[in-house]
Amino acid sequence: MPRTCSKCGLPEELCMCQTIAKEEQRIKVRIETRKWGREVTLIMGLNPKEVNINALTTRLKNKCACGGTNKEGVIELQGDHRYKIKDLLVAEGYDPSNIDIQ
Ligand SMILES: [Zn+2]
Repeated sequence: MPRTCSKCGLPEELCMCQTIAKEEQRIKVRIETRKWGREVTLIMGLNPKEVNINALTTRLKNKCACGGTNKEGVIELQGDHRYKIKDLLVAEGYDPSNIDIQ
């Protein structure tokens, strides 16, 4: 009987929960106002060694139906997506208690 993770239900060899917990990733989400009052949602604190940031950016852009980019591990989405982004990150497997919305 293979051991499975009580959190995600995957076999331990596939589970990322422990890895994520070890790194104590804290994800910070905040809004920045750019030129002409344009708002962008910044997602910071992702570990580029564990997360395919390009792929994550693409998924978040699709789900928020917005434009966006990433630079040095920080994802930037056009518009204010604070209220949606937590659910989307939780759906990606992040622990809600590690996500700070500012
Ligand atoms: Zn797990």
